[in-house]
Amino acid sequence: LMQLFRPLDMLGWVYRTIRQGLIDMAEMFRLMDTDVEVEDPPSAPALIIRRPTVAFENVVFGYERDRTILNGLSFEVPAGDNIAIVGPSGAGKSTIARLLFRFYDPWSGRILIDGQDIATVKQASVREAIGIVPQDSVLFNDTIGYNIAYGKDGAGEDAVRSAARDAAIMPFIEALPQGFETEVGERGLKLSGGEKQRVAIARTLVKDPPILMLDEATSALDSRTEQDILATLDRISRHRTTLSIAHRLSTVASAHEILVLDQGKLAERGTHTDLLKMDGLYAEMWARQQNEE
Ligand code: ADP
Ligand code: MG
Repeated sequence: LMQLFRPLDMLGWVYRTIRQGLIDMAEMFRLMDTDVEVEDPPSAPALIIRRPTVAFENVVFGYERDRTILNGLSFEVPAGDNIAIVGPSGAGKSTIARLLFRFYDPWSGRILIDGQDIATVKQASVREAIGIVPQDSVLFNDTIGYNIAYGKDGAGEDAVRSAARDAAIMPFIEALPQGFETEVGERGLKLSGGEKQRVAIARTLVKDPPILMLDEATSALDSRTEQDILATLDRISRHRTTLSIAHRLSTVASAHEILVLDQGKLAERGTHTDLLKMDGLYAEMWARQQNEE
């Protein structure tokens, strides 16, 4: 796979990747063959998901020894619910996503999926269960079909087509003279931001993950495209446990529960209506954003 990249492409990509904070980390590891921070315990069993619940139990974590980012964070996401995580920039939202994907292990506390501590099961099985749609997805200089199939080793044509349909990008692909064989990326067809996000969604759906993590998945799009993509995300998240990290509060107002993160702690939690009534941080952020719009 490395051969697909000229070294400079690769460097640029890695640079952007790190700057954006959260990309599909499985891709990065596969591409770079990097050592990961975390290791599987010997003979760790695979994660077995019957009901895809997610729970953080008193999670404490920081990137550097003397700076704690998450300060004893606890929350639970019931199977199939859509939970939003909001809060000021730098609050630790993407850190939650990175920990759930087991990019790092917490200093203390536990992260559970369906009651199993993710630090005690096979890392690959955790990553298989979680689909991530980041803010700005990277397309490889290859065909659209390859870019979608990339989400899962050995994805067959049926899975790719079905993912493309669910991501609502099938009409776009079918209108191209070369269909799934169309080359995209820097030396091929340039896709719009919304089209790229749909390819990223399809890439995620090819895994058919029981858990979805959307990290500002629409925040780089214009508001019309954002509405379109939100409708798709809403549909594909309906039967999946979903964590949506959002900057724009209006995009998560319908979540089952909204967690308001501030300085690594849960400042507030509740539905949109509850939080407005509380008249605290969320209400203040909401009022500010309504003014801006
Ligand atoms: P959010 O997504 O809420 O904007 P993040 O979870 O990305 O915030 O980051 C929380 C804090 O952790 C920020 O202060 C950020 O600078 C810091 N941080 C993020 N990634 C790293 C890293 N790899 N090394 C050191 N600090 C980091
Ligand atoms: Mg973030």
